[in-house]
Amino acid sequence: MGALDKYERQVVSDLGLVCKGWRDATLYTHRLWCAITISSTDRLSGHQKATKWLERSRSMPKTIEYHSLWNRCECSGRQMCHSTNPLLIKLLSEGPLLHHFELQVARRECFKNWIAAMGATKKTHSFPRPWDSLRSFELTFDNEEHDRWDQLEEPAQSIFNILPPVTSLSIHLPPADNAFPNLSGTETDSRYGVLDIPRDLLIGLTTLTLSCDWKGTRLLAILQHCTNVETLSLDFNLQRFPFMHEHDYPFSKALANCPILLPKTHTLRLSQAGTAEVLKYLQAPALTHLHLEFSGSEIQITDFENTIPRFLRVSRATGSLLTLHISNASISGAHLRRSLSGLRSLKLLSLDHIELRDTLFIRSAPGDAIHPHLPSVEHFKLLELNSDYKSIGVACLDERRGCTPCIMTVSFQKKHSDYEYIQHYASLFLWKENASITLLTIPPI
Ligand SMILES: [Zn+2]
Repeated sequence: MGALDKYERQVVSDLGLVCKGWRDATLYTHRLWCAITISSTDRLSGHQKATKWLERSRSMPKTIEYHSLWNRCECSGRQMCHSTNPLLIKLLSEGPLLHHFELQVARRECFKNWIAAMGATKKTHSFPRPWDSLRSFELTFDNEEHDRWDQLEEPAQSIFNILPPVTSLSIHLPPADNAFPNLSGTETDSRYGVLDIPRDLLIGLTTLTLSCDWKGTRLLAILQHCTNVETLSLDFNLQRFPFMHEHDYPFSKALANCPILLPKTHTLRLSQAGTAEVLKYLQAPALTHLHLEFSGSEIQITDFENTIPRFLRVSRATGSLLTLHISNASISGAHLRRSLSGLRSLKLLSLDHIELRDTLFIRSAPGDAIHPHLPSVEHFKLLELNSDYKSIGVACLDERRGCTPCIMTVSFQKKHSDYEYIQHYASLFLWKENASITLLTIPPI
């Protein structure tokens, strides 16, 4: 359940008015009360109500999410900055202790205004403030404001210096074409973006999410210090060539030869990625879960042929990876087969919205082992298949001798005529008659 805004909170309150039983049911469901959303239009008069709401969650970890209702903030003029909403500042300085806080700001100036407002409360309130006890922080810079991130800033003045020592950090940076505009309004070079996150903060993180479509090696410079990160999520916001022009620079050359060691990372997610190239610069020996979501376009041919197999090999993860999710890509079946080769402990393989250009599962001769050989897979998910689903080669999976029994979940894209759609399911039904795999379909047939 997500954080409730004031209208949703009113619905919960109204449910409690139906009768004593319903009131008790809402009061004892503590998770209903542990997360609230505050918006820039909420007034200070709502402070007592919001505090009482969070207190009803008793000992559960508490969350406040703050969203501005507008993309723009006029605080450079005489208007009050949205990020210094008095209700928000009072809750962060006097409310119950917080576990997680999400802040959305229009631009860096607004974040500085928010810091100044919090700094002012430091002088007037005794410790600990809710903000000081925070373990998890998510910061989003709005997409719409032009705010030049290429203007030089001393590391000592970095806007990230004041963050409390959280263990979970999410930063969503503005898109490159907003953060690095030139006079004609087009993107200049995001390689020179300013992004100084203190090293001590990075070392203390166990969860890191970075959403960034800037080019260059800023991201890698950050990851170098993430020695305790267990869950790492990188969102490239559809950037197709984040490391373009970097290959010949000494820093990236050195990392390509000796990748950054992420010793504790068990879960790695790439989102909206135009390429998996970042994996060239990483090694994650504790990796068990790999999630690769591409941007939908045809990905670089080397990704599944070289980059991913090499990353798994360098990380020594081929024998320990448990789940692999790949989505939104057009791939050669032969290249995908290469990436899946040797994943002997894989339990879940999920291919979602994948267009295969040739057959994935093959058998050289009757009686031979199937390639790729995935003996431990308990669940294949083949989701949002299109009409070329036969290129999966599912018929090969009829006899998985010596392998773990498995379930296959299949769904088709609903972009064809109803007749074609039904035909896809009908052909699967025929296959199911002979298959040794338990077949589940969405919707069920
Ligand atoms: Zn502002």
